[in-house]
Amino acid sequence: MVARSFAGGGSGVKPDVTFEDIGGQATAIKELKEALEFIKNQSDIQKLGIRPLKGILLTGPPGTGKTLLAKAAAGYTDAAFVTASGSEFIEMYAGVGAQRVRKIFQVARETSLRMGKNNSIIFIDEIEILGGKRGQITSHLEYDQTLNELLVQMDGLKVDDRVRVLLIAATNRVDMLDPALLRPGRFDRQVKVELPDREGRLEILKLHTRNKPLAGDVNLDAIARETFGFSGAHLESLANEAAILAMREKLRQVHHRHFHEAVDKVMMGDRLDRQPAPAELKRVAIHEAGHAFVSEHLRRGSVSTLTITPRGQALGYMRQTPEDDTYLYTRDYLENQVAVMLAGAVAEEMMLGGRSTGAGNDYLQATKTADQIINCGMSDLGVIDPEMLPRSLRYRTQKKILLAQEQRVRDFLEMKKKELGRVVDLLLEQEKISGHQLRSILDQETGCA
Ligand code: ATP
Repeated sequence: MVARSFAGGGSGVKPDVTFEDIGGQATAIKELKEALEFIKNQSDIQKLGIRPLKGILLTGPPGTGKTLLAKAAAGYTDAAFVTASGSEFIEMYAGVGAQRVRKIFQVARETSLRMGKNNSIIFIDEIEILGGKRGQITSHLEYDQTLNELLVQMDGLKVDDRVRVLLIAATNRVDMLDPALLRPGRFDRQVKVELPDREGRLEILKLHTRNKPLAGDVNLDAIARETFGFSGAHLESLANEAAILAMREKLRQVHHRHFHEAVDKVMMGDRLDRQPAPAELKRVAIHEAGHAFVSEHLRRGSVSTLTITPRGQALGYMRQTPEDDTYLYTRDYLENQVAVMLAGAVAEEMMLGGRSTGAGNDYLQATKTADQIINCGMSDLGVIDPEMLPRSLRYRTQKKILLAQEQRVRDFLEMKKKELGRVVDLLLEQEKISGHQLRSILDQETGCA
C-alpha cells in the first residue's frame, strides 16, 4: 500500500501535531502558514481567479522537522493527511511507479471524502528519489514515467475540485530535482527548514523535556549552547537518552549531568565495553590531552569534556563548546582549529616518541580545513578559482599551512610538557575530565588560582 494515513492505519485520524509542537522554526512556520492561507481562504482565491497552490517544497537537512511541519499543516488546514516516501514509488517494473502516483492522489481524495473534509494533504518525503532529473538513469525509463505521472497529477489539480489536494514534499537534495518540478504551477512555494540556532535548540529542548521531571540543576541554556549543529531529531534523542541515564541510576528526576553525558552519546555513539590495553589507553590520554591543551590555550573555556571512554568509532575524544553559533570563519579561527586537530599527534610524538594511526581522522579534518582556507581566498595565494588551481600548488599551500600550525603546536606543548603529564595521569585515573576541572589544573600550574 503506497499511502498510509497518519497514526498507523487509522485512516481518518487527524494528525495530532500542531505548529506549537515545533521548535526553532519560526521563519519556516511563518512562510508555511502564509502559503496555507491559499487553502484556508478558498472563496476569496476563487473570486479573484487565483490558481490553486499545488505544491510546497520543504528543503533542509535531515531531522529538522519537515515531517512535523507537514503534519501540522494538515491540522491547520483541517485536511486529511496521506503520506509516502519517494522510495515507495520506485520499482524495477515499468509503469508501477506511475500507477502508485495515481493511487496516492486517489487515496487522498477518498480519505478526505470519507472524513467529510474539503482538503487533503499528500506528504512525500525524499521526493528526490522520485523527482530526480529526468534522463539521468539511462538503464530504464521507469523513473521518468513516475515523475511524468506526478507532473500530470499536479497539473490536473483544480481550484473547484470537490476535494482540494495539496502536495507537500520534503528533500535535502533540492539540487537533484528535475527543473520541471520547480517551475511555477508545480512546487511554487519553497520553504527552507534549517538547523536550529541556539535559541531554537533551547525551544526544542524545552518541548522535549515537557514530559520529563527535571532536577533543579538542569541548565537547558547551557545544553543548547553545547549542541551547535544538532537537529531537532538529535535534540529529541538527547532528551530521551538523558532520561534513560537517570532511570539507570534509579533516580526520579533527570539531572544536568545526564544531559551532559547524553550529548556524548548522541554525538559519538554508544559506550563500548571494549577496554584498550594500558599502553594504548595512555596513548589515547596523551592524544586527547594534547587536543585539549591547545584548544584551551587558543580559546579559554572551549573544552567541554575530555575522555578516554571508547564510544562509537572513537577510543577517546575531546569535546569543544562553541562560544556562540558561528556561521562565518576567519583565517585565524580556521588556523586555530587546524592547530587543535594536529595537537593530538604532536603530543603523542613528544611524549611517546612516535605517532599512531589514531590521528588519521584528525589529519583528514585538518587538510579539509586548510582547503577551506585556500578555497575562500584566505591563503597566501589570495583569491583563486578552486577549479583552476593546479593540484601540486594546492598541495604545497596546504602543506605550508599544516606545517606552520604543527610547529606552533609543538612549541607550545614543549613548554607545557610537565602539566600535560599531570593531566594525562588524572585522565587515566578518572577516565573523564570536565572542562572546568581542566581549567582549574591549568590555573594552578600557572599560579592563577
Ligand atoms: P528527514 O529529512 O530525515 O525525513 P525531517 O526533517 O522530516 O527528517 P522529522 O521527521 O520531522 O524530521 O523529525 C524527526 C523527529 O525529531 C520528530 O519526531 C521530533 O521528535 C524531532 N524534531 C525534529 N525537528 C524538530 C523541531 N523543530 N521541534 C521539535 N522536535 C523536532
